Amino acid sequence: MKKQNDTRDGFNIYDTDTNIRQQDDFYHYTNGKWLKNNPIPLHESRWGSFLMLHYDTEKKLHTLITDIQDKKNLKVGSSGQMVRDFYISALDMKRRNELGMKPIAPFLNLIKKIKDVQSLVLTFARLERTGGGGPFGIEVDQDMKNSEKYILYIYQSGLGMPDRDYYLKNDVESLRVRNAYEKHIEAILILSGRTKNEAKNDRETIMRMETNIAKASMTKEDLRDVDKTYHKMSVSSLSRTAPAVNWNLFLKEVGAEGVRNIVVMQPKFITAISKMLKKESVEDWKTYLTWHLIDSAANSLTAKLEKQNFAFYGTVLSGVTKMKPVWRRALGSVNDNLDGLLGELYVKNYFSQQAKKKIKEVVDDLFEAYEARIKNLDWMSTPTKRKAVKKLHQINRKLGYPDKWKSYRGLTISPHDYFGNLIHSALFENKRKMRRLHKPVDRSEWFMRAQTVNAYYSFGMNDIVFPAAILQSPFFSVDADDAINYGAIGSVIGHEITHGFDDQGSKFNGKGNRKTWWARSDSEQFTKKAKVLIKQFNEYTVADGIKVNGQLTLGENIADLGGASIAFDAYQIRLKKTARKDIDGFTPEQRFFLGFALVERENERSEAQKTHVLTDPHSPSIFRINGPASNLPEFYEAFSVKKGDRLYRTPKSRAKIW
Ligand SMILES: [Zn+2]
Repeated sequence: MKKQNDTRDGFNIYDTDTNIRQQDDFYHYTNGKWLKNNPIPLHESRWGSFLMLHYDTEKKLHTLITDIQDKKNLKVGSSGQMVRDFYISALDMKRRNELGMKPIAPFLNLIKKIKDVQSLVLTFARLERTGGGGPFGIEVDQDMKNSEKYILYIYQSGLGMPDRDYYLKNDVESLRVRNAYEKHIEAILILSGRTKNEAKNDRETIMRMETNIAKASMTKEDLRDVDKTYHKMSVSSLSRTAPAVNWNLFLKEVGAEGVRNIVVMQPKFITAISKMLKKESVEDWKTYLTWHLIDSAANSLTAKLEKQNFAFYGTVLSGVTKMKPVWRRALGSVNDNLDGLLGELYVKNYFSQQAKKKIKEVVDDLFEAYEARIKNLDWMSTPTKRKAVKKLHQINRKLGYPDKWKSYRGLTISPHDYFGNLIHSALFENKRKMRRLHKPVDRSEWFMRAQTVNAYYSFGMNDIVFPAAILQSPFFSVDADDAINYGAIGSVIGHEITHGFDDQGSKFNGKGNRKTWWARSDSEQFTKKAKVLIKQFNEYTVADGIKVNGQLTLGENIADLGGASIAFDAYQIRLKKTARKDIDGFTPEQRFFLGFALVERENERSEAQKTHVLTDPHSPSIFRINGPASNLPEFYEAFSVKKGDRLYRTPKSRAKIW
């Protein structure tokens, strides 16, 4: 039995590595033994707090599905029937192998029949409705400048590798991935029935076209900037931007007939695609589309195709050598397509009201601490502080699960037709998406599943969202020591709130509208302070000497630093209401930082780490802990950090924003 206030819930003293000094490397001090004793499972690219909980959640979902697997008499159209039959269809590898390429034959035919630019664009639209495949994609989301309305967004897409740099750079890592991708294209095409020679010719065409698409693509640093990605246009001005596309036809075909305005996220990209539509032959476009269709369907077709897909996306990009067992892949697919049904089942069985009550308390303390921090900032002007506090009060909190669950009424799921199930679900979701264009914004909507181990802040909704699955140990436990809870989930909550007040958050007001509420002097001060953090993170390196990108990771690093600061204050508020005591020889403040460091513990394969640093706006785990720790005066005090310690930074080089 776990006792109240036992630090062992979440934190375990035996996970620490006492050979490492806290003041030199706090991440490895807290997690050293754990990292040694918990190697990455063969079928994963990383292993840590997030993934362990993810596994745990998967097991629970698996139990729920297994419980209904043999049930007779499940009514057709009931959530039980849909979940069960989707799962069974995905699991049936024998049937999938027998069917081979047959399930995608109608789509291959569609591509085969393309004869001119007009029918090409029509095919982009048809593929988009069933999950994408063309060089650009569409989404329906809140209008950034009118948060009560939905609007259609068009965004760049169309690459098979995860970032444009892989096509354009010639460093060792880009070349390694690019060469492997070229082999992957040929291998998939041969498996789908092309001869060796045909596959080689196709590969050359595909690489040439994707490289051109990559050149036209906006960089990942710019993609983070909301001003660079918001260009509202009428259909006629979009037609001037990309004249080769018959936009009325495209919009009608995707189900967005009659929309007047569209947000084009990357106008230069869309113009470049329009030029490519004229410049490249229809035959080459067909080759390109065929490739993307097969590549994106590979995981839902035969075992051989799935294996080849894994060889590139799993092994080359992430260093994983063993595929997940088929039940986990099948479960993942149910989760991707019937997430609402599975979420409802999950919450009913595994989320306690007690947890919801306790987390509310933590969040309340966080908000109180945040308000005090804002009021005490030395760099923000007084009017801006007032606006910040107002925005803070307007943040909506979503904890555990949504008030109303997504409906799947009218969706047909068969136990014998996996690919059909995927297509029906995609069409169903597309309809749901398009219906929103004619409705007011639903502020109660969640963009993350209750069964996902993660959290987010949304600029447009101005809400923080904490799904049931992350509200578990080691992030949070009703039975854990407060210090661990505030250090762990408290820092994560603080992180999410901080996004509402960072360089991008400063551009959205409390209602979620794109409206800068900072004075120029606030932005200047903020930029100056952020520069210290960019410089600090640019100095960190991972496998093969690849450097962390301080600019790309800036927003997340600010949120990490702010999150820990605010959570620390929130814990101090809690401490005043409870008694101070030492546990396992640690002071309350020391335990707070242990909680902070333990949620980020993670082993990561070097391939995955390289892909991570090159594409992900989050820094690698070690820097998400040691980085903020070496900036926080509270950490210096808790562990008596002094000059000469490896985490010591001179006061001038310490970043402080919140
Ligand atoms: Zn974040």
